[in-house]
Amino acid sequence: MASSSSCITFTAAAASRLVHLNPKLNPNLFKFKLKPISLTNKSLYTFVTLKSSSSSSSLPAGTTRSSNNRSITMSSSSSSPYSYNQQLVAAKKAASLASRLCQNVQKELLQSDVQSKSDKSPVTVADYGSQVLVSFVLQKELPSQTFSLVAEEDSGDLRKEESQETLQRITKLVNDTIANDGTYNVTPLSETEVLTIIDCGTSEGGPNGQHWVLDPIDGTKGFLRGDQYAIALGLLDEGKVVLGVLACPNLPLESITSQHQNALNKVGCLFSAQLSCGTYMESLDGSTPVKVHVSNTENPEEASFFESYEAAHSSHSLSGSIAKKLGVKAPPCRIDSQAKYGALSRGDGVIYLRFPNKGYREKIWDHAAGYIVIAEAGGVASDAAGKPLDFSKGRYLDLDTGIIVTNQKLMPALLKAVQDSLKEQALPSL
Ligand code: AMP
Ligand code: MG
Repeated sequence: MASSSSCITFTAAAASRLVHLNPKLNPNLFKFKLKPISLTNKSLYTFVTLKSSSSSSSLPAGTTRSSNNRSITMSSSSSSPYSYNQQLVAAKKAASLASRLCQNVQKELLQSDVQSKSDKSPVTVADYGSQVLVSFVLQKELPSQTFSLVAEEDSGDLRKEESQETLQRITKLVNDTIANDGTYNVTPLSETEVLTIIDCGTSEGGPNGQHWVLDPIDGTKGFLRGDQYAIALGLLDEGKVVLGVLACPNLPLESITSQHQNALNKVGCLFSAQLSCGTYMESLDGSTPVKVHVSNTENPEEASFFESYEAAHSSHSLSGSIAKKLGVKAPPCRIDSQAKYGALSRGDGVIYLRFPNKGYREKIWDHAAGYIVIAEAGGVASDAAGKPLDFSKGRYLDLDTGIIVTNQKLMPALLKAVQDSLKEQALPSL
């Protein structure tokens, strides 16, 4: 028996099930200890194997060994028969297909005249179309009785008499995209089926079982302007984000700066992350994935920061004051959508600041995929009080004041600058 050190990731529930039910994890074959994934996350565990068989045939079903033969991951869910690897592959396929539909709609929109550019219907069509495709692909790739999707859209408006034409357009776009892709040999979806598939996204999420979390087009304002947007898909398992995919059709593979933010890229980027396995980036047309890492910069003078393009989504004056306090020299890079998390995960900038107006409730689909893309790239996202984001509370995030993201080393200084600026802002002006 070869001796090697390897790493297997499970929830506590799955770990105990495996130990009791799977003879292949017999201590005669595996000597291991259980270690929490992180100090703050005590519900996900790693079996650190001290001794294991080199033969993959001794691995439990659904387990895979990475090419360097050191890392093994498998489904940790008590409610899914699929491994995280299988689920990530399906998520990538779903987001890629949805982004193809969105790219076609945006191309048409940008070629149209000024009058139709002020019309919001293209984004409506692409939004619903993207949700249908993601839901369709996930259910085709991972058939399951327990499919649960928390997504932004429902079919209410589309069922109205005046939406008949829009529904026809969505149905045609979805069917054309499926036919052009060629993977699924299905009869074209009817309008009724399209409505039913959209309504698969009405799950409430929560702390138990698995839930897919989808923003079919994050950054609709950016989509209409011809700028950045993202198809953002994450998976919750027992309330934690365990994998995520960000398809960013207008984000170049090379680093962006504020000067280049409007440069449209024909191919686009796909970020994918899986718990304990890192974050990878590839082109949307399928280049070899490369592992990405957040910037390690500790010096705020070298740190540029991202924020929303739309001032209505995040206070630009508050982020300006935080940046000044920290000593950040570079101007803010303002782009739409969770493309900010993707860009940050590969070190395009160092900080992301988000401070919506008081009373605004953040939705889980606006952050789930971005959260794991950043975490697995070595970064950290928290609320303005330094607490990790909690995705287990249903469709909304329950958080304090705002969301801040940076690398581990810079977080303490950033948190202090944020809290000082918030205190100053709360003082009555003299
Ligand atoms: P961003 O492109 O980063 O500005 O964020 C886009 C997301 O902001 C959209 O998907 C919306 O869900 C969300 N959003 C919409 N209205 C607001 C608001 N008033 N404040 C903060 N976020 C908002
Ligand atoms: Mg959104």
